[in-house]
Amino acid sequence: MRRRVSIFGATGSIGENTVDLIRRQGGVETFETVALSGGRNVARLAEMARELRAAIAVTAFPDRLEELRAALAGSGVEAAAGPAALAEAADRPADWTMSAIVGAAGLVPGLRALAHGGTLALANKESLVCAGPLMMGAARRHGACIIPVDSEHSAIFQALAGEDRARVERVIITASGGPFRDWPLERIARATVAEAVAHPNWDMDQRISIDSASMFNKALEIIEAKEFFGFRPDQIEVLVHPQSIVHALVGFRDGGLMAHLGPADMRHAIGYALNYPDRAALPVERLDLAAIGALEFRAPDTARFPAIRIARSVMETGGLAGAAFNAAKEAALDAFIAGRIGFLDMARCVEAAVEAMSAAGDLNCDTIDLDKVVQTDHLARIRAEEAAARSRPD
Ligand code: NAD
Ligand code: MG
Repeated sequence: MRRRVSIFGATGSIGENTVDLIRRQGGVETFETVALSGGRNVARLAEMARELRAAIAVTAFPDRLEELRAALAGSGVEAAAGPAALAEAADRPADWTMSAIVGAAGLVPGLRALAHGGTLALANKESLVCAGPLMMGAARRHGACIIPVDSEHSAIFQALAGEDRARVERVIITASGGPFRDWPLERIARATVAEAVAHPNWDMDQRISIDSASMFNKALEIIEAKEFFGFRPDQIEVLVHPQSIVHALVGFRDGGLMAHLGPADMRHAIGYALNYPDRAALPVERLDLAAIGALEFRAPDTARFPAIRIARSVMETGGLAGAAFNAAKEAALDAFIAGRIGFLDMARCVEAAVEAMSAAGDLNCDTIDLDKVVQTDHLARIRAEEAAARSRPD
């Protein structure tokens, strides 16, 4: 029987790489594609849906539905649009689902996919940051399995294979340090969007590249590691490693350290999640360590990268702080891309938004539910916008 797969965020960088691996592993011969989703690039979505003979293709944006319908005419692929259609597509049973929408918009499809108990390959770290207990609880309740796709978390997951998690002392997540790792602070303050997207090692979309330059991506990843693996915040360390060869390390109580090494190619982590617990031959470059010669490591500079410090205080606050942090970060990123605030103002806006909500008691809650997460997300965007307006140069 063919494996039923769905890919949410199929037209993005992770989605394209997932489709590439599915194609290399037999395409329609091996996989039955249930649902594919995309955003504004409906031509690409339709092309993929035709190739993989998907049952349904969903664009996140209702104003693109007619265009999608036209592009799918005669293919037999159903077309749909909007958040409700995305959730409905995620309700359709699949054995393996890729969650690769960017941002908090990935939460509902991921959560709904967990309800049918298959495997969720999780690239959308935001859903764990916003609603970790909801995601992990849904997986437990429905007997679903989440396999992390973020390269650092896939690395930790692989280093933990066969190990007792109670014997783990610490985990170390590496960060390339982004394009600004050696810049003086005054220059970082004036950094432009174009400078922030020039990522030295990984080829990524604009938003994720800026999050890497600001280390907000790493900040999300620390919280993701806490929520997914259940480590205490003080067990999670960040190490700057400019070559991005070592993705993460797990330290055990006997002092042993298991490192995961690989090229900067997301197809390794995606392929691992696609084939788990098997390992398939993957088309990734083989590392030539002799040619690489030396690997460098250094401590992160928290003055340069306040996002790491903010993530630690978010973990301390708990409750709805993760949802507020992620939403404020998305709003601050929008403001930076629009040229309304400077690069370092992003961290100031996020911190101001989370602190204001914390002081007002908006982040307290005993049990997280989806409504509270959505309300917190909404309010945090408003608070971050207010902070951005205050820091606007006039
Ligand atoms: P991307 O921007 O390339 O693609 C995002 C996908 O989500 C696209 O299909 C887009 O159409 C869709 N999308 C955008 N806005 C949407 C919305 N409001 N509703 C529904 N769909 C929407 O992003 P990516 O680089 O593929 O990253 C996807 C996720 O994987 C992110 O959570 C990211 O943090 C994570 N991730 C990415 C990488 C990487 O190397 N690219 C590595 C690790 C983790
Ligand atoms: Mg990562």
